[in-house]
Order: sequence, then C-alpha cells, then structure tokens
Amino acid sequence: MINPRMLELGKAPSTIRELFAYGQRRKQEVGAHHVFDLSIGNPSTPTPAAVTERMRQLLSQPAETIHGYTNAPGTAEVRAAVARNLNERFDAGALPQHVYMTCGAYAALAVALRALTVPGDQVVVNAPYFPEYRVLAEAADAQLVEVPTVPDTFQLDLAALDAAIGPRTSVVIVNSPNNPAGAVYTADVLQGLGDLLRRKSAAFGHPVFLLSDEPYRELSYDAPVPFPANFYDHTVVCYSWAKSLSLPGERIGYAYASSRMDCADEVMAAIAGAGRALGFVNAPVLFQRVMETCIDCPPDLSDYARNRTLLTEGLARLGYEFVHPDGAFYLWVRALEPDAEAFSARARELDLLIVPSNSFGCEGWVRCSYCVSSAVIERSMAAWEALKRSYE
Ligand code: PLP
Repeated sequence: MINPRMLELGKAPSTIRELFAYGQRRKQEVGAHHVFDLSIGNPSTPTPAAVTERMRQLLSQPAETIHGYTNAPGTAEVRAAVARNLNERFDAGALPQHVYMTCGAYAALAVALRALTVPGDQVVVNAPYFPEYRVLAEAADAQLVEVPTVPDTFQLDLAALDAAIGPRTSVVIVNSPNNPAGAVYTADVLQGLGDLLRRKSAAFGHPVFLLSDEPYRELSYDAPVPFPANFYDHTVVCYSWAKSLSLPGERIGYAYASSRMDCADEVMAAIAGAGRALGFVNAPVLFQRVMETCIDCPPDLSDYARNRTLLTEGLARLGYEFVHPDGAFYLWVRALEPDAEAFSARARELDLLIVPSNSFGCEGWVRCSYCVSSAVIERSMAAWEALKRSYE
C-alpha cells in the first residue's frame, strides 16, 4: 500500500518551489530580463577556483579514491579536517569521531532529529523557520512546537522558549544566521539560551538537545557569527557547504555532536544508527575529498554584500520596512497588507517573485533572496515602486 502520509507530503505544494517554477515559465514567456525572481536561495556567486581546481586534480586519482565507498560516517581525513577547522575557529574542543559526513545540512538535520527524538517528543522551533523542520520532525513522529521570536528583531524570545519547553521537549532548533529573517543570534542571547536549556535539562532529568542548523554560518557581513555550541554542551551542529562555497547540488555537509557533551559517543552512535535507518551513509566521496583540503577556503561574499546594500537602500528609499540582515542572503520585508500571500500575489503580477511569510510560520512579511545578479536587484526597483504605489 502506498503510504498516505508520504503521498500527501509528496503532493503538497511548496510555495518557494512553485514560485520558482512560475518564474522559470514566466521567463520563457516575457524574457528573463523582465522577471525579478527573488524566491529561491540558490547561491549566485561562483564556486571558488580552489574548489574547482581541487576537483580537477582529484579526477586523475584512482577510481577507488574518488568513487569508492568510505566508512559510513565519512573518511578519516575529512572528519579530522572538520574537527580541526572547528577547533581553530571556535576553540570547539571537537574530536573527529564526533563528526558524521552527510548529504548537506538537510540530511544532517534528518539524522540528528531521528537520533534525538522518540515518537511523541516535542521539537521546538523559533518562528519564522525553515519549513522543512516540520517535515523532518513529523517524519520522526515528533510534534513540532512553534515559538515566535522577538517582534522586529527576530532574536530568540527566551521567555517564550521558557514557557514552551516542557518535559517532552527533546530538541530545540536554532538557525543563525537565519533563513528567512537574516538575523544573527547575539552571544548574549545564546548565553541566555544555554542557561535556560541547562536549567530545563536539570529539572527534567534528561538533556534538552540544541540542534544548531548552520548552513549560513559563513555568510555574515559585519561581525563573526557566535557559535551556539560554545554556549551549550548538548549541541548537535548541522552544517553544509551549499551556501558558503556555492555547492548546493553536490550535497555535502556534516552533523557534529559537540565533543564537550557527556554523551557525545552515544549521540554519535545514534546518529550513525539514524544514518543507517534513513539510508544516509557514505556522503558523496568526491566532495568529502574536496573538503579535506578546501575546508578553510573563505567564501566570497562580495556579490551578496553589494546586493544587500542595493536592496536595503533601494527599499528604504521607497519607504519599505525591513529587518536589516546581519547574515545569510535574505531580506525580510514587511508586507504592505496583513495578508502576506495576497501581497506576494500582487507582487507576482509585476513579475516580482517574493515568498510570503506564511511558509515560514508567521504572518505579514515576505522573504526576498538577494543571491541573484546585482542587475536583477537594480531592475526590480521599478516593480517595488509600482507595488508600493498600488497600495497608496
Ligand atoms: N537549513 C536551512 C535553514 C536552509 O535554508 C537550507 C537550505 O536552503 C537547509 C537547511 C538545507 O541545506 P542543504 O542544501 O545543505 O541540505
């Protein structure tokens, strides 16, 4: 019998994907020049030359080295490289045996959530949030609990988290820099979160795990991003090079169970078990080999930084209200009417494709991806202006 839950999930529309597909069709109809697709987070900056050069070198190596199976959690070399990188940058105390290589952050989230929950547990997310958290939590038969963030700053609301975290809470997910709001959680907020989770864990007699989803960690414009695992030991980091090195289709990332937690070995074993149960063993080996040597390759943020300035200055001039983005490549703009879907639909009539906030668990905003060419941002300004005027 076909699984009805999976059938429903497979048929359920994704607003982002639908907008993106609409944009592709529309570009055929009216020409790419006239469509301003700010819907999807597909990196527009070229992959660094060092990465492509390393791929070229690797292709001349024996097939077994670049195409063969590795150990289920990944090669010893890349796991050591990840641990070294985390230690050099964040003084994380990371050990290679607590790193599990995955097909991007998505698979890291899938194995971590499966490893850290039993059916009926609660997984707390901070809204607005990446919509796939719900899919993954519910696939693990856990219940997703949405907690709003602080209005206008979109920092974590510690009082609201305090009220929401109960004895059935096994995981709290944070995502900084944040998709969709562009917020970077401050060290003070993360310290408060760490204190709160320690208090809750002691009261409940079991750890409440922090799942830190960090595919945008490197995408910060003004200051380094505080590393959540340094504020709370029972943290599992989910990382990906999709955004930082423009490699989303290569499916390479990792889950790292902080070596500072007392049960790191058990968590790692459960992650390995979840990898088996979900079929996520042996992440793509060519890219494990690439990351062995390219892990310190710095991201090129110059295009995104320029686009951030163009978009924020342009929208500020037109009188739009938005959250100044500290990181990622998204701008979170207040819709000009309470119904974000209606606002996005009206923008679509002007060939401006922006994602309504309902997809991210909150009302009244839209997400604009600025990982596009600067020319698209510049040309989109006329559509933003017409959209604003249509509400006056
Ligand atoms: N988490 C967040 C917040 C994301 O925005 C994305 C992708 O857009 C992912 C996870 C998945 O990343 P990956 O492509 O590495 O699986």
